[in-house]
Amino acid sequence: MALAKINTVAIVGGTHGNEFSGIYLERRYRQQPELMQRSSFSCKTLFANPQAHEANRRYLHSDLNRQFKTVDLADPTLTNYEQSRAKVINAELGPKGAAKTDFIIDLHNTTSNMGPCLILTQAGPLYNQLAAYVKLKMPKAVISRDEDHFAQDDHALLCTVGTYGVIVEVGPQPQSVLRQDVLEEMHEMTQHILDFIELSNLGKLPELPKKVEAFRYLHSIKLPMSSSGERLGMVHRNIQDRDYLPIMPGQPLFTLFDGSEICYDGEQVVYPTFINEAAYYDNNLAMSLNEKVWIELN
Ligand SMILES: [Zn+2]
Repeated sequence: MALAKINTVAIVGGTHGNEFSGIYLERRYRQQPELMQRSSFSCKTLFANPQAHEANRRYLHSDLNRQFKTVDLADPTLTNYEQSRAKVINAELGPKGAAKTDFIIDLHNTTSNMGPCLILTQAGPLYNQLAAYVKLKMPKAVISRDEDHFAQDDHALLCTVGTYGVIVEVGPQPQSVLRQDVLEEMHEMTQHILDFIELSNLGKLPELPKKVEAFRYLHSIKLPMSSSGERLGMVHRNIQDRDYLPIMPGQPLFTLFDGSEICYDGEQVVYPTFINEAAYYDNNLAMSLNEKVWIELN
């Protein structure tokens, strides 16, 4: 089955002001547009949150990457800096639901040891083939399905402003730091996505694997907290840096400051992501849990 033709692509960096790979990659592509241009579509870049970057922070008032629900974009009472930026970005790349941008690539970093990760927030044949292509070209890439059962209108992420959109999430990288290995993996994955769109548009995709391993988000878990809101412990040393590796029922998840351990009390094997992500400490989130799934191509 032929996929929809993609005519317009936007590459977005700096949605979070202290995630430096996307900020520097957006700058590089803006200065060297031949790196993002292909024959069958037009491509531009956007620096999403320049004031947060100036302040060397993730955001000034609220997380920009949580402001893109259709109902919020239409709400004139939401007026802080990021809420206003969301409306400007929606006007420039969207409007969501009838977007002038066919495909958005939003560039992010994580402090967690997740490697190069392609995050899909919607399901469908184009995403399935993209996942298979990226995995074929970059075997170490990880495919993540993040609440792709939600309607696009109900997603709050910037990339959902486009008709299609994905997140390129690469780690580990500390906040406000640039690592060469992480920057190069982000560049490589972005190039594969652009090549996929080009080959799909031209009807020249190679033979793709029929099954692709992916991780589907289940829920997040919090650090152990006291009833008065104090942290009682930390992520267990045997979980730290082991993103995507299985957690078995009964396995220790947290070490408390009194030396005791809290174990995983679920009944199915789960796969953690965003372990000890620095940006989630304000909400005391310890990690996300996922199940392993297979994306099947028709
Ligand atoms: Zn981010």
